[in-house]
Amino acid sequence: MVYLDHNATTPIDDRVLEAMLPFLKVFYGNPSSLYRHGRIVRSAIDTAREQIAALIGTQPPQIIFTSGGTEANNLALTALKPGAKIAISAIEHPSITEPAENLTSQGHELKLLGVNKEGCVTQEAVDEIVRFRPDLTSIMLANNETGVIQDITGYARQLNDQGILVHTDAVQALGKIPVDFARLGINMMTVSSHKIYGPKGCGALIVDKNVILRPILYGGGQEHGVRAGTENVPAIIGFGKAAELAGLELAQRTEHVLNLRALLEEHLQSIPGIFIFGKEIDRLPNTVQFGLEGVDGEMLLMKLDQKGMAVSSGSACASGGGKPSPVLAAMGVSAELAKSAIRISLGKDNTESDIMEFFNQLKSLVIPG
Ligand code: PLP
Repeated sequence: MVYLDHNATTPIDDRVLEAMLPFLKVFYGNPSSLYRHGRIVRSAIDTAREQIAALIGTQPPQIIFTSGGTEANNLALTALKPGAKIAISAIEHPSITEPAENLTSQGHELKLLGVNKEGCVTQEAVDEIVRFRPDLTSIMLANNETGVIQDITGYARQLNDQGILVHTDAVQALGKIPVDFARLGINMMTVSSHKIYGPKGCGALIVDKNVILRPILYGGGQEHGVRAGTENVPAIIGFGKAAELAGLELAQRTEHVLNLRALLEEHLQSIPGIFIFGKEIDRLPNTVQFGLEGVDGEMLLMKLDQKGMAVSSGSACASGGGKPSPVLAAMGVSAELAKSAIRISLGKDNTESDIMEFFNQLKSLVIPG
């Protein structure tokens, strides 16, 4: 299989797996236990917290471990006081849009912020937020489908000055571009382990001192009482190791995927009628999403699968639904072109031959004969 879907998930790094294994069998103690066996595990969790804090420019106590990005996003939204107002961008992941929509049934007011045709939240949208005066705004750092990166630092300053809390979903950005919580100037940030070669089912919400979180889960004092439940120790250890490696290897991983993407885009452009979304704008170095007028993206995905190519037709969670991507719709892309979309997301272990194999298979399917 040629795996070109790293925005959906990444394979676990061997070094991450090696770091996790002792915590599945040897050090199985409960980190809340007071005897030595428990204290060893507690100290390993502390190390993981430090490794993640070092990658994202925050202090270890600001990290609240969760079961993944989805839970962290839900937790960020429930931090709101009853009746609070929320503003989110129209291109958020469903783990933001769906809980936000659900909150409206509990009396919260919600504003959806449009994006321009490149997929960027504009200054006009930010001015609109200021006029709406929400308690919390959530704008993702990088989009999972197009890879388009938002200027969070610019917006956060303006919104914070108005007393508006800012959350960003950095699940896709982490490990692909530098992500610095302090420098972004935000109040909450979501990250996830399995997008950075760590295990699945582990993530975190990063929180600053201005935020008082209301738990989703009750029944234990773990994670400062904000997220009850015995910690997923092996996954947290793996997330920590994956974060350490992402920090050490960021520059080399970025250069590698950028070179591969340039090669891919150069070839893609030889296909008549191809359209690359967000091409002229700041994007994640590993992501390219393209559309081909007249082609059914889901059908093409299945045909590519038969040839051993793993790609996505949009967000992994949204695929199979048969509906055009809400992200592309928000960018003003026609339903027909959006339905043809294919997303390629490269990873650190992809090679030039993966790119050429994919391109040749694609060409044979879309330019028959
Ligand atoms: N946010 C974004 C932007 C994502 O792409 C994803 C997963 O695809 C999530 C949140 C959810 O993260 P998790 O799979 O860890 O629940």
